[in-house]
Amino acid sequence: MRTDTDPSPGAEKTATVAGPSPGAPDAPVRQLPAADVYTALHTSRRGLAPAQAQERLKRYGANELPRARRRPVWRELGAQFTDLFAVVLLVASAITFLAYGLQEPREVGTLQLAVAILAVVVLNAAIGFAQEYSAERTAQALEAMVPHTCRVLRGGERLEVPARDLVPGDVVVLEAGDAVSADCRVVEAHELAVNNAPLTGESNAVGRTADPVATGPALEARNCVFMGTDVVAGAGRAVVYATGSTTEFGRIYRLAAAAPRQKTPLQHQVAVMARRVAGAALAIGALMFAVRLPTGQSVVSSFVFALGVMVALVPEGLPATLSVSLAIGVRRMARRQALIKRLLAVEALGSTTVVCTDKTGTLTQAEMTVTRVWAGGVTHAVTGVGYAPDGEVAEPGPVRELLRVAGLCCDARLVAPAGPRERWKVLGDTTEGALLVVAAKGGVELEAEEEAAPRVTEFPFDSDRKLMTTVHKAGAGYQACVKGAPVELLARCTDREWDGRRGQLTERDRAAVVAAGDELASQGLRVLAVARRELDSPRPAQDEAESGLTLLGLVGMLDPPRPEVTDAVAACRRAGIRIVMVTGDHPLTGEAVARRVGIVQRPDPVVVTGSGLDGMGDEALDALLAEPSELLLCRVSPEHKMRVVTAFQRRGEVVAVTGDGANDAPALKHADIGVAMGAAGTDVAREAAAMVLLDDSFASIAAAVRLGRAVYQNIRKFLVYLFSHNIGELVPILAATFAGFPLVPISAVQILAIDLGSDVLPALALGAEPPEPDVMDRPPRSRQERLFSAAVMGRILFLGGIQAIGVTAVFFWHIGASGIPFDDFTKDTPVYREAITMVQAGIVLSQFFNALAVRTDRQSIRKVGLLSNPALLAAGGFGVALMAAISYLPPLQTVFNTAPLTAGDWAVLAGLGTLPLLADETRKAWLRRRDARRKGAPR
Ligand code: ATP
Repeated sequence: MRTDTDPSPGAEKTATVAGPSPGAPDAPVRQLPAADVYTALHTSRRGLAPAQAQERLKRYGANELPRARRRPVWRELGAQFTDLFAVVLLVASAITFLAYGLQEPREVGTLQLAVAILAVVVLNAAIGFAQEYSAERTAQALEAMVPHTCRVLRGGERLEVPARDLVPGDVVVLEAGDAVSADCRVVEAHELAVNNAPLTGESNAVGRTADPVATGPALEARNCVFMGTDVVAGAGRAVVYATGSTTEFGRIYRLAAAAPRQKTPLQHQVAVMARRVAGAALAIGALMFAVRLPTGQSVVSSFVFALGVMVALVPEGLPATLSVSLAIGVRRMARRQALIKRLLAVEALGSTTVVCTDKTGTLTQAEMTVTRVWAGGVTHAVTGVGYAPDGEVAEPGPVRELLRVAGLCCDARLVAPAGPRERWKVLGDTTEGALLVVAAKGGVELEAEEEAAPRVTEFPFDSDRKLMTTVHKAGAGYQACVKGAPVELLARCTDREWDGRRGQLTERDRAAVVAAGDELASQGLRVLAVARRELDSPRPAQDEAESGLTLLGLVGMLDPPRPEVTDAVAACRRAGIRIVMVTGDHPLTGEAVARRVGIVQRPDPVVVTGSGLDGMGDEALDALLAEPSELLLCRVSPEHKMRVVTAFQRRGEVVAVTGDGANDAPALKHADIGVAMGAAGTDVAREAAAMVLLDDSFASIAAAVRLGRAVYQNIRKFLVYLFSHNIGELVPILAATFAGFPLVPISAVQILAIDLGSDVLPALALGAEPPEPDVMDRPPRSRQERLFSAAVMGRILFLGGIQAIGVTAVFFWHIGASGIPFDDFTKDTPVYREAITMVQAGIVLSQFFNALAVRTDRQSIRKVGLLSNPALLAAGGFGVALMAAISYLPPLQTVFNTAPLTAGDWAVLAGLGTLPLLADETRKAWLRRRDARRKGAPR
């Protein structure tokens, strides 16, 4: 059954621009005049009643699109087998199976090897698959942490609701920077423009109107806005007529396979390196084959030998370890309120050299309180803090009109506390919230004023104009209420009205206003000027409404710095990161706040304004940025931000930039790390950014930089760790070959047991190391720096070399001590089995200590604490236990051809194992002393 207020589901579900809805007037909503749209969609100007919205939500379901289907599991898994590593190993395994088939008599060892290599490929694929799966889940979970909300009218109240709760008939309030969350018919438009690129592919702002349009393709209806698009300018209201999969977006939304994941530069570097190493492994393997064949060995045994060498060199677990380490970084950053949207940012954060930061909300609490009101030479103090309208304006009489006009020119709303523990809050712009509060403190009854002078149109605030205007019906005529940055507003004023007395704004008055503004700004206050003008028409052109104004006075509002920012700024300074404040506020306001949080410490910061930047060519700008000065950019617009980011990048800097507005998007996209605000930012900014700060605080950027640096360091740690044992495995094999020993000192199966058994967990534990204590005491790493730098290579050779010498010596010492001639050795000679067990155990123990050595670059391991990474110790312990099992358990002895080690053997091996650690500690001590000498030396 259907009633007027209770439309049938079919009515609304088909109520799209494409066709008339049953029960609605016989025309699609786009052809109706704005006033009839409400009736057609069974709603009203005041929006749906909350109960009605609830009921519709139940009936039509959430405003969501079905999730994109993942690639089928078999394809995801299949992809893991097609990378170069996997292919090389698969081919190796196949040849080994073949060799086994050709062998006369067949050796079980060859079959074991073939199976083991196959197992490696499967294991690696499983790790890779699990990692990608978890990365996807993490990405989804992170996405859900930034809730997508929109503003609607429900029962006349303006509310913020999750986008998924939108229903047909909801009246949504649109502003620049909002993402459109459903298909809606515009009923009110003030300079409203949207970017329909996601639907049409054409990325430019297209104006929207509330007027009816004739028939034509749905997407071309200029009075509709569509799900998935963004509002890029202006403001307006619109009524939802289609949600979820019935929207235009839902219709063209393909359940496409997930986009291919792109590799980050680090992943790329590691992949390239791994490929090179695999190539080298093949070459060395082939060489070994060629060296051994003429010595009278069988083809098959030479081949199995060469394969052993190859397997020793291929870093099997590397790509998976790298991905896990990056994923751990992402999760840690999320815990510190920094959501990474692009993996790239994790690495870029570690090398950030410049942070261009906003002021309001990022450095300050964005909790604005008007503390001063100025008119005609008199400053009125205001008491009270926060958004509670408790407090007073000293002698409010002369500034009542100023407060009324400022209050009328606001879109924000104050929300009273819901419970005893809650505080007053602002819905909307905090600057406006402060104006509503001061109006209440000054005795202005805004609700009554709004009723007496209802708003007829508006020109919303934008950071380029730095002004906002609302037009109201006032008696027989109309009145424009204007507020904005003093410089911009003063330029448009011709008169002034102070304490009810109107007169021309003379040069002396202007000078007095500027001086008063400077005085307020130098106290760190954000300053706004307020003006008014009478109009004849309800819809004046913007220029008309914003010229010939009568100045009423100034307000100064306090926005206290965030307490945690001072430490974060100091940390960034120590870390060699330059902080440039970029603000739309007055230079004096900017400087005062910058001083309070420590961005400015010298008496002579360089302050450049937006117009200063405009008058500067690229060369002059480059020269300005090249100076190591404390730089503040004030009264700038988002376009300036973009220019400065580009200029810094020209100089080779790695730039992080914050932004919240829709027109910050280009700078956010262009920067190395675009940082958007999770709490106060717009959807468009969040979309463009690589990182979203959940708490908007600068301190979270500093925390993310610290973690980003740690990720990079950790990657280096496990690279050194993993590659150094390759040397420990390769050198004894080479030595045996050249010494003419007929067998391998360590077999391929043993090597695999190390690479995939005892070494994987410690590598993962190294990838999860907490940041080193001094990670923020060093300059940022250079963008040019390669992951496999000379220093890293040197360290691999250093640690791996010591390990290799140790195990090679142990092998030959054990073989030599037996007195058996080389040529009499067979695989079953007990001394040989003991010797190869010692080589394997020697590498495992040495890797245990090696893992401790690579934990720090310069500091002594004692300083970070031998026991401070319990996961690493447990992982190393597991490796040793596995080795003991391989040495003592008969079934494993058969597989690995090993023998039980004595306590004496273990003691010798442990002693040798500590050598890399001790040598590295000595090297670090020497480096520290050298650094200290250099620091102490006069420049
Ligand atoms: P910050 O770096 O502090 O975040 P911003 O770059 O976001 O600053 P804007 O919000 O663009 O600065 O503000 C620039 C100037 O415009 C302010 O100094 C103020 O004078 C004025 N202003 C800010 N908000 C409004 C508003 N809602 N209506 C009118 N004028 C405003």
